[in-house]
Amino acid sequence: MLSDLHLHLRPDDPDAPAEEYYCAANAERYREAAEERGIDELGVSEHVYRFAQALEIWRHPLWQSFAHDDLDAYCAAVREQTDLRLGLEVDFVPGREQQISELLEGRVFDYVVGSVHFLGDGALDMDEFSVWDQIAARAPGEVWERYFQTIAASARTRLYDIIAHPDLVKFWGDPGRVPEGDLRRYYEPAVEAFADAGVAVELSTAGLRKPAGEMYPAPAFLELCVQAGIPVALSSDAHRPEDVGAGYERALELLERLGVRELARFEGRVRTMAPIGAQQHAG
Ligand SMILES: [Zn+2]
Ligand SMILES: [Zn+2]
Repeated sequence: MLSDLHLHLRPDDPDAPAEEYYCAANAERYREAAEERGIDELGVSEHVYRFAQALEIWRHPLWQSFAHDDLDAYCAAVREQTDLRLGLEVDFVPGREQQISELLEGRVFDYVVGSVHFLGDGALDMDEFSVWDQIAARAPGEVWERYFQTIAASARTRLYDIIAHPDLVKFWGDPGRVPEGDLRRYYEPAVEAFADAGVAVELSTAGLRKPAGEMYPAPAFLELCVQAGIPVALSSDAHRPEDVGAGYERALELLERLGVRELARFEGRVRTMAPIGAQQHAG
């Protein structure tokens, strides 16, 4: 089995009309791209902040500008018009666990992907609202420490099945924004939290397409996860069909080097593990 569980069916453009992207024809484009690359297990996990219901969780200005779609229409379209697993990428907003839980309740997802894109109001992966502008005067260690505490806390909520891009804090790939020395001191508390909570960790090739130029998580971080027995979920975080499975050669090389032979997959929020292997392309 080869999987890509963290897909977005629509581009980040706030004006992209939902009906053009959450539909059979668009899912088919992703399915075709996946087939070319031997990927058989596909799931969509749209950003929660694309949906009006997300404003119950948080009213960050970015969310207010994006939150237009209806979450139930998305769920129905993915279930009824596509053969993709149904997921959702839900930001962990500290203090809003109850609201997140209420949003997830009563909707039957195959899995929920947890992510941390913000520290307080400050964004980790955008120029706008950048956390680095807010606390530029501080040492990068402070940002890193707060980031890894937050990602650990996200796992401990047990709201999530997969922790996405678990070292997103390195997004800018700027040496001035990376603390000195062995970074495992930041990873370790997060690894402990993932193991305690029983979540899967995402190996995401998206970082290869970002300024960081490396996968999330860094090899040393993934190695600690593997040693702790944490299951791995493989993803590209594609926002368009061309990026499905992008960079998977490198991901598979790393997994092999670390002795990982199985990948996580999910149905109805139940995880099973399947041996890694590309599917033969039928056509
Ligand atoms: Zn994300
Ligand atoms: Zn994503």
